[in-house]
Amino acid sequence: MAELTEDQRLIADTARAFALEKLRPNASRWEEEGLDRAVLEELAGLGFAGIYVREDVGGSGLSRLDAALIFEELSRGCIATAAFVSIHNMCSWMIDAFGSQEQRQAWLPKLTTMEKIASYCLTEPGSGSDAAGMRTTARKDDNANYTVNGSKAFISGAGFSDLYVLMCRTGEDGAKGVSTLLVENGAKGLSFGKAEDKMGWRAQPTAIVNFENCRVPAENRVGPEGDGFKYAMMGLDGGRLNIAACALGGAQDALDRALQYVKERKQFGKRIADFQNTQFTLADMETELSASRALLHLAARKLDAKAPDATKYCAMAKRFVTDAAFKVADQALQLHGGYGYLADYEVERIVRDLRVHRILEGTNEIMRVIISREMLKA
Ligand SMILES: Cc1cc2nc3c(=O)[nH]c(=O)nc-3n(C[C@H](O)[C@H](O)[C@H](O)COP(=O)(O)OP(=O)(O)OC[C@H]3O[C@@H](n4cnc5c(N)ncnc54)[C@H](O)[C@@H]3O)c2cc1C
Repeated sequence: MAELTEDQRLIADTARAFALEKLRPNASRWEEEGLDRAVLEELAGLGFAGIYVREDVGGSGLSRLDAALIFEELSRGCIATAAFVSIHNMCSWMIDAFGSQEQRQAWLPKLTTMEKIASYCLTEPGSGSDAAGMRTTARKDDNANYTVNGSKAFISGAGFSDLYVLMCRTGEDGAKGVSTLLVENGAKGLSFGKAEDKMGWRAQPTAIVNFENCRVPAENRVGPEGDGFKYAMMGLDGGRLNIAACALGGAQDALDRALQYVKERKQFGKRIADFQNTQFTLADMETELSASRALLHLAARKLDAKAPDATKYCAMAKRFVTDAAFKVADQALQLHGGYGYLADYEVERIVRDLRVHRILEGTNEIMRVIISREMLKA
């Protein structure tokens, strides 16, 4: 990480120390017990809950590159917790960037301390990749309120979070008819489905969020009507970097564990590390992760600089890093032999956790759609 500043190294070291002390020893237990709210608040105390939110409302005012460093390190401790906090950061940024002064003041001082937690509600049962095909509607009954009807699927933090950043239809079909509303937990007509039983990210709850004649004050709309899809997509540029950074940290943890294991385990009178196949596999794993880190940092710098090709680079980083990270984690499991398949060694948890990084915040096929669209447009 030679290209980083002194401050950035300090930020990464702080996140790493927290991850090793507070997250890593508990990651497996949290699969059974769920997220630890006290640990989330501690993490917020380090400035990691509003990383790129402005400082007047308690944010850290840092860059996307800083966020990538933080999420890589946190994920070396617990992928599910780090990824959950990354979604919270995406929501907080959307309110900071597009919300009114009143909305910023009302929510961000609490979101940046994680006294309140936010979820991002875009996907629906019938519209995933085709997010602009959403059918959840918000009708303005009078000037003071919207009535929301519909369902959002796969929502991370559903039932656990205090605030739901909802993308819903207030106008015409397609992306231009979408607005963003802030819906508080406890709102009449808001309910949650059963917790989904998942392959990975088991420490955090995922469920359907239902809106049944749910009344939302019109003052909770973020920005003008019709701008919601744009906000959702801009949020995802940074979100994808964070999801990639979390994948990278998880894979680095798996590689670190494999490196230690192959030096201890012996077969045929030799350490597993003494077989050339092991050495070549380790070399490839290290190379894949270094290339991933370089592309991730380049994409983050592009987003920080508001470069015109930032969206393409965010999609390239998300696609490349999450695929490479999953492969590296699987190779780490293979180097552990049968022990890699046992929960006690924790590599199987990393593999399970990293699988979803290739699916959410836009599947890796959708990343290819975005990348090639930009290429052909040029
Ligand atoms: C654990 C978990 C947590 C999640 N958290 C959230 C959350 O907090 N908030 C939220 O809004 N969403 C969340 N999601 C939803 C996630 O973003 C979607 O699952 C994802 O966008 C894919 O949508 P889908 O599942 O409907 O798949 P589909 O869109 O039905 O895709 C099915 C398959 O078809 C492929 N495909 C679709 N369209 C194309 C195309 N044009 N070209 C090529 N291939 C295509 C896809 O790549 C995929 O392989 C979460 C999902 C999971 C699993």
